[in-house]
Amino acid sequence: MTGLSGAGKTTIALILEEEIRQRGLKVERLDGDTVRESLTRDLGFSKEDREKNIERVTFVAKLLSRNGVVCICSFISPYQSIRDRVRAQTTNFIEVFVDAPLETVMERDVKGLYQKAIAGEIPNFTGISDPFEPPARPDIHVRTDLQTPLESAGHILGTLEDMGLIPPAKL
Ligand code: ADP
Repeated sequence: MTGLSGAGKTTIALILEEEIRQRGLKVERLDGDTVRESLTRDLGFSKEDREKNIERVTFVAKLLSRNGVVCICSFISPYQSIRDRVRAQTTNFIEVFVDAPLETVMERDVKGLYQKAIAGEIPNFTGISDPFEPPARPDIHVRTDLQTPLESAGHILGTLEDMGLIPPAKL
C-alpha cells in the first residue's frame, strides 16, 4: 500500500488484516511507522535510505509470503522505480494506491506532521519537501477522500477475491 502520510494506509491495513484472518489465511502486517522503529531504525528519509527501507521490507515480505503468509505492507514508498523493483522481485505483488489529495491529508494532519513540515521542522517530508510519485498503473486504487475506510477495504478485498488471491468471506 502506497500513499501520502495520513492517506489511510494503516487504517485500511488493519481492517484488511482482520478480514483476511477471518477468511482462514495467515496474515502479517508490516507498517512503515513500526518497521522504522525496529528493523530500519538506523535509516532516515533520503532517497537512498527510503530505498533501503523498502528493500529490507521486501526481504521480510518474501520470506513470509513464500511460507503462505499474506503480507500487508503499508509504506509511503514514494518512488515508482522502487515499487517496480519490488514487483519484479516478488510474486503476487499487488500495488494498492491509497489516494487522498494533499489538501485532505494536510487537513487531517493526524500526527501533526504536516504542520511541522510546512514550518520547516521536518526535512524530506513527502508531499511537502520531498516527492511522491503517484503509481502509474496501480493494481488497486482507493480514494479515501471519497470512500470510508470500510468501503476502501471492501473494494480491495473484492479485487483480491476476483484475482483468486483470497477466498470469499465465510458466511
Ligand atoms: P497512513 O498510514 O497512510 O499514514 P493513517 O491510517 O495512519 O494513514 O491515518 C489516516 C487518518 O485518516 C486516520 O486517523 C483515519 O481515521 C483518518 N481517515 C479519515 N477518513 C478516512 C478514510 N476514508 N480512509 C482512511 N482513513 C481515513
